[in-house]
Amino acid sequence: MTNLPRALRDELAATVPFSTLAVETERESKDGTVKTLFRTADGHPVEAVLMSYRDGRRSLCLSSQSGCPLTCTFCATGTMAFGRNLTASEILDQALHFRRRTEINHAVFMGMGEPMLNLDEVLAAARRLPDVGITPRRTTISTVGWLPGLTRFVDEVKEPIRLALSLHAPDDELRSRLMPVNDRYPIAEIVAECARQAAATHRRVFVEYVMLAGVNDSPEQAQALARVLGREHFKVNLIPYNPTGLYEGSPPDRIAEFRYELMKAHVPVTVRLTRGRDIEAACGQLAAAPKERAPARA
Ligand code: SAH
Repeated sequence: MTNLPRALRDELAATVPFSTLAVETERESKDGTVKTLFRTADGHPVEAVLMSYRDGRRSLCLSSQSGCPLTCTFCATGTMAFGRNLTASEILDQALHFRRRTEINHAVFMGMGEPMLNLDEVLAAARRLPDVGITPRRTTISTVGWLPGLTRFVDEVKEPIRLALSLHAPDDELRSRLMPVNDRYPIAEIVAECARQAAATHRRVFVEYVMLAGVNDSPEQAQALARVLGREHFKVNLIPYNPTGLYEGSPPDRIAEFRYELMKAHVPVTVRLTRGRDIEAACGQLAAAPKERAPARA
C-alpha cells in the first residue's frame, strides 16, 4: 500500500503482521503430501500437513498446541518439549498458509497437541474455517478423551463438527500402559460421553485405533473392542502404525483379520491410508526436527 507513508507501513508490518506464523521449512512427500514447519512469533515450532487425494479431497491436518503435554507411548509429539496452547489465529494461519497454494475442503485437528486442552481457541478457529472453504461437516476434532473438554464439546457445540476418539485399546489395563491419560479418564467414561454425542447428532463418532504388533491387534481384542463400542454409535478407523521407535506395526494380514472381526460384530470399520511417511508427516510423526525445538521454558 504505497499510498500510505513509509513509517506507517513499517509500523503496520511490525504490529499487525500478515500471519502470526513464519514458515521455517516445507517438505513434500513422494505421494504429494506437504508438511510445513512454522514458528510462532515467540519461537515455538508448529507443524501442519496438507494431503491431496485423487478424488479432489484436500485435507489439512492442523495443530492445536506446540508439542503436547500428554505422553502417549507411540506418538512422537509427546517426546518433544511442550510449548503452549496456540491461539485461534495461529491455528487459522496454518490453514491460510495452504489456502494460498490450493483450494482446501477438509480439516482434521490431528496434528500436534490435544484439542480438548485448548477448546476455546480450537472452536474459534474451527468456526472460521468455512471462510476458507471448509464446512463444519468436513471438520473433525480428535481427542484422547480429555473429559472436561469432551463434555463441553458435547454440551456446547451446535455445529455439525465431527468428533474422533483416539482409543487404541479395548481395556483399561492396556490403554493405561499405552496412554497414561487413561488413568485419569478411563474407557467407560469417555466412550459413554462419545456415545452421548453420537446419539445427540445422529452421526457416528470415529474411533482411531493404531495397530501395534503383538500389543493390541489380536482377534480377541477386536471382539472386546466391538463389545466396548457396540453397533450403533461408532465407526472404527484402523491406523497402520507409523514408526516412532518403540513398537512394530501390525502386518497387513493381521490388520485384515482384526477388521474382519469388527465387521462380523457389525461395527463399521475402515483402514486409514498412510500418507507422508517418508517426510515424517504421517500420524504420530509430528515432532519438529530436534534442532528446531522450542527454547526451554523459563
Ligand atoms: N491429541 C489428539 C489429536 C492428535 S490426533 C488425539 O490423540 O486424538 C493424532 C492421531 O494419530 C491420534 O489418533 C494418535 O493416536 C495417532 N497416532 C499417534 N502416533 C501414531 C503413530 N506412531 N502411528 C499412527 N498413528 C499414530
